[in-house]
Amino acid sequence: MTPKEFATQIVQQLQQAGFQALWAGGCVRDQLLGRQPKDYDVATNATPDKVREIFGKRKTIAIGASFGVITVIGSKHSGNIEVATFRRDADYSDGRRPDTVEFTDAREDAIRRDFTINGMFYDPIADKLIDYVDGRADIDCKVIRAIGDPEERINEDKLRMLRAIRFASTYNFELDETTLKAVRRHAAEIKVVSGERIGAEMRRMLKHENRAIAMELLKASGLLDEILHQGELLHKNRANWRTRTRWLEALGANGSFEQAAWIMLSKLIKHQGLQPTVERWKLSNSESATINWFESNVLTLSRAHGLPWSQVQPLLIHADAEQAVELIRIQFGENHEGFLACRQRLAWPQEKLDPSALIDGGDLKAAGIQPGPVFSTILKSVRAAQLDNEISTKDQAMAMAEQLSSKSDLE
Ligand code: ATP
Ligand code: MG
Repeated sequence: MTPKEFATQIVQQLQQAGFQALWAGGCVRDQLLGRQPKDYDVATNATPDKVREIFGKRKTIAIGASFGVITVIGSKHSGNIEVATFRRDADYSDGRRPDTVEFTDAREDAIRRDFTINGMFYDPIADKLIDYVDGRADIDCKVIRAIGDPEERINEDKLRMLRAIRFASTYNFELDETTLKAVRRHAAEIKVVSGERIGAEMRRMLKHENRAIAMELLKASGLLDEILHQGELLHKNRANWRTRTRWLEALGANGSFEQAAWIMLSKLIKHQGLQPTVERWKLSNSESATINWFESNVLTLSRAHGLPWSQVQPLLIHADAEQAVELIRIQFGENHEGFLACRQRLAWPQEKLDPSALIDGGDLKAAGIQPGPVFSTILKSVRAAQLDNEISTKDQAMAMAEQLSSKSDLE
């Protein structure tokens, strides 16, 4: 069973038990846009207890029950589906999460949602759209518009400011004028949102090929200055801003989040680097390692044509090398010598790009050289000589190792 079939079956079971049940939110929007929904959410007037009764305790998870959400367990293929009781959100005292929820009807559940395009329901049995918020019209004219008063909606939950910009940029929709104005007025309050949530939104925007549009919107709304450590430095100098957004555009559909993040964050603040932002956004170890690797090595790689091969080769066999070379192309163009040198060498067969070492630690031990920190220094020098074509046989490598070892004994 597909996720869509499972979501239809759940609606049908709820309706057969006498309740109202509908698809809700993102999946309705995606369907109207002709996109594959990431997941299907079901909304109903059945209370969480009733939902559990209908699907059985063993087939449901009640972790979200206190705010009205029951997870119905599906097969490996269909995945789980969240069934949420229609609710209205009571006070938002922290600017992020409602303090309590109260169960209510579909209309009130629609108007608590963030944007009109996210506020629709669909009955898959009757094939009927239930649209209390004029979401359909905004899908047709491609507008992201807050439901109700944007001021109020942003006041309730400041994360909505970033969501507005993510939806506008990734869907290539316009951001409604009044909604944008409200974002501008409240931009400084994005601080109440956790760095990790901000990072998650930034990841989604920077992953997407429309990342330059997202950055322009973040700048225009004033959010950029708040979420990037000293983000205003990015656009204070207009030439710098234009250059960076042009690079983001050049990344295209295959560009990665890490490449985009490096373009936005690198060399922003001379003595601070990108670490403060990486930490605030709580990026994964792998994301942060890649971004920092770009920061340390892209410049070196861009000079590949003039450097000894032994210095360039260890960088080119790194897992992130292809992406780094792409960053060089984006910055300097495809006729740039450094770019061409890297590209050509990346195309070499494995044995030429990364030939097996002539000797290893075992060979040093066998030759009676005392094991210790000096081993790695010797092996490194021998490796460099091999890559730079100064030696090419095991005998030459051993001769060089012994010479280096006796020299280090003397020191
Ligand atoms: P996607 O999953 O593609 O990012 P989505 O719209 O499904 O988009 P979710 O975060 O999965 O986003 O939320 C599901 C639905 O819940 C949304 O469509 C919207 O109706 C509502 N929603 C989510 N976050 C908020 C919020 N911060 N404020 C108000 N409503 C929200
Ligand atoms: Mg979703």
